[in-house]
Order: sequence, then C-alpha cells, then structure tokens
Amino acid sequence: MHIDMNSYFASVEQQANPFLRGKPIGITGKHKEHSIIATASIEARRKGVKTAMSTYEAKRVCPSIILYPCDPKKYSYITHQFNKIFRAYADCAEQFSIDESFLEITKAATDYFGAVCLAQTIRQRIKEECGEYITCSIGIAQNKLMAKLCSEQVKPNGLTVVQPKNVLSFLDSCQLKDVCGIGHRTEERLNAIGIYTFEQLRKFPLENLTREFKSYGYWLNEASYGRDNSPVVDTIEDPKSIGHSCTLTENTEDEKEMKRCLLELSDRVAWRLRKKGFVARCVRVCIRYFDFTEFVQQRKFIEPTNNGLTLFQTAWQIGNKWRDKAKPVRLLGITASNLTKGKGYQSLFKKERKIRSLQNSLDNLQNRYGSKVWSRASLLYPPNTPSATCS
Ligand SMILES: [Mg+2]
Repeated sequence: MHIDMNSYFASVEQQANPFLRGKPIGITGKHKEHSIIATASIEARRKGVKTAMSTYEAKRVCPSIILYPCDPKKYSYITHQFNKIFRAYADCAEQFSIDESFLEITKAATDYFGAVCLAQTIRQRIKEECGEYITCSIGIAQNKLMAKLCSEQVKPNGLTVVQPKNVLSFLDSCQLKDVCGIGHRTEERLNAIGIYTFEQLRKFPLENLTREFKSYGYWLNEASYGRDNSPVVDTIEDPKSIGHSCTLTENTEDEKEMKRCLLELSDRVAWRLRKKGFVARCVRVCIRYFDFTEFVQQRKFIEPTNNGLTLFQTAWQIGNKWRDKAKPVRLLGITASNLTKGKGYQSLFKKERKIRSLQNSLDNLQNRYGSKVWSRASLLYPPNTPSATCS
C-alpha cells in the first residue's frame, strides 16, 4: 500500500487555521515574496497554481492566493502522527518522504478486499487523529512500483486498487513518466527510440534497451511488466540503534562467506544510518553458533561513523578475533548504536572526499531505485552459490 497525502503542507495549514479553509493558499519558502510555491492548496490548484511556480507567477494566475511561509516543525509533527497510525496496522512501514509512505500489508490483509478495508480504517484514523483536512490518496497493488502508480491516479481522497491480473492493462493506460523512476529525460530518450507506451517498452528487445540505457535498461524492462522486488524497508523514527542480522543458508566455518555476509549487513546498516541522518559511536557484532549459543561483543569508535566499510572492519576485527573458531556459524548480526544526528567525519583528504561523493551518488540511486541497484564487487555471488536470508 502506498499512501500519499494530498497538497500536504497546504492541508496542514488549513487544518491548523480555520480561516484558510476553502481558500486558495500557497506554501512558500521563508521569504514569501521572492520564493517558489512548495505546495498549493486544492483551491489554488484549480485556479492553475502549480508546485515550483514562482510566487510572482502564482499571484498572476490566481490574484486571490494567500501566501504562507512553510513551517517544517508543524508538518513533521503531523507526519509523525500518521506514521504511528501506519505502524499500528501494517507489517512494517517505510517513510518515503515527509508526506508519503509505503506499507507492507501482506500479513495484515489476507486479500485485496481486506486491503481495501484496511485502507478505509487507516483513512478514518487519520481523519480522527490528524484532522479532516488532512486527506490522502491510497494505492494498493502487488509491489511498491505499482502501489505508488495507483495512489497517483485519483486526488484528493483517492483509493485505487490494481490486482495482478490487471497490471498490464493498467500500465498501458498510463504514461511512461507516471512511473516513479522514469523522469523527463528518460522519457525523451525513450521517445527518441520510438517508445511512447509501456506496451512498446515491453516489446522492445532487452539487448537494445541495455545497449541504450546500460543496467537501467533491465529496470525499465521489469517496470514495463509492473515488476518490482524492492522490499518495504522499515524506517523507525529516532531509533536507539539500527541493526540487521542474517541467517546463513547452512552452518558454515568458511571465513570468506562470513566476511561477505557481514559486509553486506554493514552496508545496509550504514545506508539506514545515512538515510536517517545518524552517525553511530558504537558497533555490536553478534554471532550465533550452530548450537544456538551466542557471541556478542561491541566496540566504540573514536570518530562516530555512518560508513559501511568502517562498520564492517571493526565488526570483523572483534568478531573474528574472539569467536569460537571450532564452532560453525549459523547467524551473523551487526548493530550500530549510541546514535547521534550528524553527517560523519568530514575528511580533508582528497581520496576520502572522493569516496564520500561516490557514496552520496550511490545513496541517491538507492533511494530512487531500491537497495538492489548497486553492489560491491566482492558481494557478487558466483552462479549457483546459495545466498543467505537476511532480516
Ligand atoms: Mg503528496
């Protein structure tokens, strides 16, 4: 399920201030006269005001518009409120932006009918707890890609469901750029090779697509079938610690395998730290042996970090030094704790700055296309190697 708040900042202001209700309002930056419209209320939209329009232009198309400077604290407060509601009903919830969330509801709802009932319950709770002016559009489908596409169909207060059997016909009724992940530039490039619809994209030979778009071509091909395997990643607000663990497919004494698993976990933990704007002062490694006995050890960092490799190196050092090497290992876990808000150590060295800028680009990709979009070469499994299941 994807839930997207309608005209979010404007709705929150209208909820907070009855005098703004039913009126065209535009939420701007701090200095409202020389700014752009961050969000326009439904009334302003109807008169032609659009997001990212200059305030000058907005006043021209809608002279009666009331400009209001944004108040981030107020919006975060309401976001916190509805995220709590989502967590109460969903298996887990991923906050995608300040006004959008993905909900994993595979367990919470047994079928699509159950999912619709759940959507209505959640909407009712938002109305009761955040106020009737805070409305949302909801999309329900088999994965994140399709759910997000669904929620965009009807605004405000929409509820769109696409069952697996209808995915292709639904996609064919949408435009390429409607799908999250296909931007304006990509659309132009697709048009240039004669692709205007998802049907055409589906029929386009994959090898030609990957020649034109490299690995993104695979993603485009998958998207044309409405496929998306990216999981809903639980984002917990202000956590005390962030951790991942991984049960190996079989008990192992293979150091390479353990290293690989721990590195993958470290990268995932580090990514979540960066995504939430945290750095960790402490790392804890947990090793569970074949007989379910456990080894847990932690270490403090001199400089707090959000770097995957740093987490891994420290975790591996303590884990490998102290673990009982006679016992095969069943599970590995890593937890970053002692969290504070921050961006991490700012190095003056060129090489480290370069790594950081690479990391930023990878994070941007990952935020947009999911965690599978990049991998360290050392984590690529040779064919026929069973991978582990992670949680
Ligand atoms: Mg929205």
